[in-house]
Amino acid sequence: MTTLEMFGLSDLIGHRFGSCMVGGMATRRPAPRWRVTCSRCHSAWTEDHGKLTNAGNLYRCRNVGCAKAQEDEMRQPVGLRPVTNA
Ligand SMILES: [Zn+2]
Repeated sequence: MTTLEMFGLSDLIGHRFGSCMVGGMATRRPAPRWRVTCSRCHSAWTEDHGKLTNAGNLYRCRNVGCAKAQEDEMRQPVGLRPVTNA
């Protein structure tokens, strides 16, 4: 962990958490919050720094329907995925 991360100020811009991409900082005080956009459903919201870094790639979209679709997809064995370009 770097000094910046200890203070919760590491730059998350451009980082990806699950299907969600950090587009910019929403606010720095009292704790950093980030603007997050879902690349699946294009929902946008702000999220606590810690929630993003703790969840990592397990972070889920705020859109409940989108997050559920994402989990269903991940649970499906690769061989059973529908072939779209057949
Ligand atoms: Zn989404």
